[in-house]
Amino acid sequence: MAKSAKIQKVLAMPQLIWGWRSYWIRGVFCWFVGVIILLNQSKDNFDLRFQIRGASLQQNNIVIVNISEREWALIRGNQDSNTIQNGVDHLSSLSDTYFWHESTWVHVLKKSLSLNPEVIGVSFVFGHNIAPLSSSNRDLEILRNSKIVWGAELDNEGKIIYPRFARRFDDNSGILELNPDTDGILRRFTNGLGPTNHFAAQLAKKFDSQSQIEADLGFIINYQGPSRTFETISLYELLTEPDNSRRFVGKIMIFGAENSPGHTYQTPTGPMSESESLANIVDNIIYSRNIQRIPYSVYVFLLAGLIILSAWNVFRFNQLTSFIFHFITTVILLAFSAWAFDAAYIFIPSLPIAITGFCSYIIFLSYQSNIYEHRAWQLEQEKQYLHDIEKLKQNFVSLISHDLKTPIAKIQGTVDKLMSARPNDKNLESDLKSLRQSGTELNRYIRSILQVSRVEAADFRINRKPTDINDLTESVLTELHPLAKQKHIQLSKALEPMFSIEIDEILIREVIHNLIENAIKYTPQRGHIEVRTTESDQQISLLVKDNGPGIPENELNDVWTKFYRGQSEKDGQSNGSGLGLYLVKYFVELHGGTVFINSQIGNGTEIGFYLPIPNSETDEMKEQV
Ligand code: ATP
Ligand code: MG
Repeated sequence: MAKSAKIQKVLAMPQLIWGWRSYWIRGVFCWFVGVIILLNQSKDNFDLRFQIRGASLQQNNIVIVNISEREWALIRGNQDSNTIQNGVDHLSSLSDTYFWHESTWVHVLKKSLSLNPEVIGVSFVFGHNIAPLSSSNRDLEILRNSKIVWGAELDNEGKIIYPRFARRFDDNSGILELNPDTDGILRRFTNGLGPTNHFAAQLAKKFDSQSQIEADLGFIINYQGPSRTFETISLYELLTEPDNSRRFVGKIMIFGAENSPGHTYQTPTGPMSESESLANIVDNIIYSRNIQRIPYSVYVFLLAGLIILSAWNVFRFNQLTSFIFHFITTVILLAFSAWAFDAAYIFIPSLPIAITGFCSYIIFLSYQSNIYEHRAWQLEQEKQYLHDIEKLKQNFVSLISHDLKTPIAKIQGTVDKLMSARPNDKNLESDLKSLRQSGTELNRYIRSILQVSRVEAADFRINRKPTDINDLTESVLTELHPLAKQKHIQLSKALEPMFSIEIDEILIREVIHNLIENAIKYTPQRGHIEVRTTESDQQISLLVKDNGPGIPENELNDVWTKFYRGQSEKDGQSNGSGLGLYLVKYFVELHGGTVFINSQIGNGTEIGFYLPIPNSETDEMKEQV
């Protein structure tokens, strides 16, 4: 049994999913938009982060020594230019050759080593492109100092071109190779070059043997700022500044060309010299500051979550709240993304978040308004339909009631005639009486229904004229006296003299009639009923008090509703339509008055109404209106 229920549930799934299509098709659309933006925009988005963030360098352990071509020429003087070796002109080292001058470099490095840095990197390739060395052994020792890392290069076939001073099995050289993305911007660093490390990795290793490059596959470079973020001095300054003694102690010095061809890269923070790019990479390796990105698969899940959140928000709250919620969520997510980038070096693209969130918010919001509009239209249709039916009903009821009145009058007339003939048969006489009674009840019933349909019609107007409530009450009492007499009920009255007020005489007469009639109807034989009228400054009141059975507390509010009859009356103890008190309330309220009732089981009922006394001026105005 349970199993078949389960199977049924599973079988119903596709139908359920199809039923919810308006939601998930929209969701999938937004998700699609988000993924497309993610795939297309994340690069620009990524670059922008660096531009917004600006310089954020915390530890400054790297100093860049810039060598400009002009400066080099000055330092070198007009010395020999026999350094270019024939045949090696296909690599960037063609321009590097320009920067080769043996005795100058010996001098520069000697000076640098004396300043006691931890490592010195020379980001030039001085391999076969320079002439064989001619220095003395002492000078060669300087060039081969283990604190120095020289640049190496890969040739067209991917073979390493070692620098002249490389100790092949040692670590004083590293490959100088940076690979920009297809759009020409340098964002990634790769170390995967076999047994020889990258120049930057080599520098980092010499500086801190613990520093480990994340993976040989490389990483995304976390630029610490635009060009000139790292401390930079010119070669000239290095050689001439008298107080350089403490500036380089324990640091990494990177020598590089300032803006020569082959020594400049486009980076997310703008153009940068090769040595500065290398400084950023070394910094990333030493402090493990490289950027992580969350995998795309995780990201697309996050986007789906965002869309669900957005839909929930729209359908859960009203428009203003959902807008505020959407706004705050977006700001929080963007702030989180910025924080993750700055503090935890995790790149979470923010544009797809903002656009997917906005897109799903708008799409679900418009869908929701569509639903509301459709519902409102349906309601309007329903209202119109109900209105038509109500009209039809009213027409039908009044038509029928009207047509019933004539035959009943005929029957009543005939019964009267038969009764006045004084039949001898006692049974026949009582039957005729009962027939007469039923006819009267039916007549009253029809009258009530007709009255209801008349007053509920849209074009119903009340017809006010000055009337004395006491006169009306007297007349109703006279009319109902025989009825009370039949039940030996004592009717007493206490009518306070009062001025006439503007009311619809027919309607208020009906009100008083219904109240006293009810009292007589529901008070047992030999009961007592009192009718009292009073007048104050603003209102007059009429009260009918009986010592009948009373009305249960839980029915007190219901007695005023259409067709409502008390429980005992429903059980068949008396006849009636349940319209009497409904009309009482309706008529009194039409006059701007209120009804009241106090009753307790066994203690009788006090029921009546208050009517406002209209001030004559406002009344005149009302008449004009
Ligand atoms: P109708 O007046 O249309 O012939 P009805 O008297 O049953 O029928 P209402 O006058 O609207 O209808 O009264 C509603 C119900 O309130 C009655 O059925 C009765 O149970 C209760 N009720 C009204 N007046 C009294 C009263 N004076 N004492 C006890 N119950 C009353
Ligand atoms: Mg009644």
